[in-house]
Amino acid sequence: MSSALDRLLVSASHARPGLAIHTEIALREAHAGDESGLAPITPGAVIVARDADDVSAVLSLATRERVSVTPRAGATGKAGGAIPDADGIALVLTGLDRELEIDAGDRIAVAGAGVVLAKLREAARAQHLFYGPDPSSLESATIGGNVATNASGPSSLKHGSTARWVRGLEVVTGAGTHLAMPSRVSKSTVGLDLAQLLVGSEGMLGVVTRVFVRLEPAPERVALASVSLSSLESIGPALVAIDRAHVAPRAIELLDDEALSTLRAARTDHALDPRAVAILFVELEGSEHGVDDDLSRLDDALSPIAIDVRLARNETEREALWKIRRDTSVALKKSAKHKLSEDVVVPRSKVGALIATARRLGVEHGVRMPSYGHAGDGNLHVNFLWEDDAQRPDVDRAMAALFREVIALGGTISGEHGIGRAKAAYLPLAHDPARLAMQREVKRLFDPAGILNPGKVLG
Ligand SMILES: Cc1cc2nc3c(=O)[nH]c(=O)nc-3n(C[C@H](O)[C@H](O)[C@H](O)COP(=O)(O)OP(=O)(O)OC[C@H]3O[C@@H](n4cnc5c(N)ncnc54)[C@H](O)[C@@H]3O)c2cc1C
Repeated sequence: MSSALDRLLVSASHARPGLAIHTEIALREAHAGDESGLAPITPGAVIVARDADDVSAVLSLATRERVSVTPRAGATGKAGGAIPDADGIALVLTGLDRELEIDAGDRIAVAGAGVVLAKLREAARAQHLFYGPDPSSLESATIGGNVATNASGPSSLKHGSTARWVRGLEVVTGAGTHLAMPSRVSKSTVGLDLAQLLVGSEGMLGVVTRVFVRLEPAPERVALASVSLSSLESIGPALVAIDRAHVAPRAIELLDDEALSTLRAARTDHALDPRAVAILFVELEGSEHGVDDDLSRLDDALSPIAIDVRLARNETEREALWKIRRDTSVALKKSAKHKLSEDVVVPRSKVGALIATARRLGVEHGVRMPSYGHAGDGNLHVNFLWEDDAQRPDVDRAMAALFREVIALGGTISGEHGIGRAKAAYLPLAHDPARLAMQREVKRLFDPAGILNPGKVLG
C-alpha cells in the first residue's frame, strides 16, 4: 500500500468514526472488476460510504493525498468504469440506499444513489406511476450508476434515456464539495443546468449521492408484436412503414440473421418463425382502445413487407417474446469462447447500413459479428465472437474499423454503456480536439487534482 493511501485511510477513520474501510485481500479482490470483460484490478482499499458526508470526507482527503478514487455501485457497467486503480480506492455507494420517496402529488421520486433501479420502478408502480428507463440490468444496477452512465433500455425509443428523467441531483465534487441541485419542478430556466452536465459523466466529475427523477402516470396497457422479415434489406422499409403508420412504439428491438441462427442452434425452445431472417419486436403502450387501434395500424402497415406479424395475446406471451430478446446475449456468449459486445448508435435510417457494415467487417477480419438491439433508436449491440486467443488483434482492428464506419454513417461509438476504460482510446474518434479540451477544462473545475476515475473516458 502506498504511503499516501495509508495516510488517507488513517485520516478518514479519524474524520468519520465507524467508516467501513477494508484492506483485506478478499474484499479488495471482490471489488476489482465489472461486467466489461476487461481484466480486473485489485484496489489498494475498499471504502463503503454510508452517506454524502462519508463521500465528501474521502474525496477531500484523496484530493489532499492525490489518491485515485473509483466510484462503484452495482458493478454492472460494461465499459470498465468501475474498475479501480491498484493504488487507489474503490468507493462503494450501494449503502446510499436508505432513502426512497415517491411523491405522487408532484410525480417525483427522490432516491439515495445506491437504490437499485428495480426497487425504484416497483415503488413507483405501486402508486400507479411509471419511471421510463429500463436497462436490462435493472435488478442489480443502481439509480446513481444509471445517472453516471445515462443508462437506457428498449423503451428509450419513446421515453428517452436517464437524462430525460433527471430533475435534480446531489453530488460531491472531486474536491469534496457538496453540490446540492435538488428539484421538484418540471421547468427551470435559471442558470446553467449542472445536474444535466453530471448525467453521463461516468464518475469523472463527482459522486452522485441523491437523485430526483420525474415520474409519469403508468400506461393502461402494453402490447408487443413480433415481426418476421425475410431479408436484412427489409429492416429499413419496415422501420419507415412503422413511422408512416402514425403509431409511436415505446420499443423496436431487432435480431439479425446471425443472432437468430445462434438462438435457433441453442435449442432454447423458442417459437421463432423458421422463415425469419430478421425479427423486430415492436412494443406499444397506451389506453386499452388506443393500443388496439395502433396494433391494427401496425399490422396494416407491415403486412406488405413482413412474412408475419404476431401479437402477444397476453402477459405470458409478451414475456415469452421478451425472453427471446433477453436470451440472445446469453446464447451468443455460449456460442463462442470469447465475446465482446459494443453499443454503437447510428441515425435510424442507417440501421440497415450498420448491419451490412458489421457483416462486411466480420468477413474481412475473420470474426463473427452478429447484431441485435434497439433498432428504433439506431442503437445496436454489434458483437465480436471468436475462438482463438491469437485472434484478439483482428478483433481490435475490426472494432476500430467499426467505430470509424459508424462515425462516417453519422453515428457515435456508444449509445448507452459509456466510454469508461474500455473505449477511452477511441474518444478522439468521436470528439474533435476543441471539444476534448473543453471537457478536460470542465473536469479540472470539478476535480482539480484529477483523482476521480483517472484513465477513464478523457484519459
Ligand atoms: C446483463 C446486463 C445488461 C445491461 N443492460 C443495459 C441496458 O439495457 N442499458 C444500459 O444503458 N446499460 C446496460 N447495462 C450496463 C449497466 O447496467 C449500466 O451502465 C448501469 O447504469 C450501471 O449501473 P451500476 O450501478 O452497476 O454502476 P457501476 O457499474 O458500479 O458503475 C458504472 C460507472 O458509473 C460510475 N458510478 C457508479 N455509481 C456512481 C455514483 N453514484 N456517482 C458517480 N459515479 C458513479 C462508476 O465509476 C462507473 O464509471 C447492462 C449490464 C449488464 C451486466
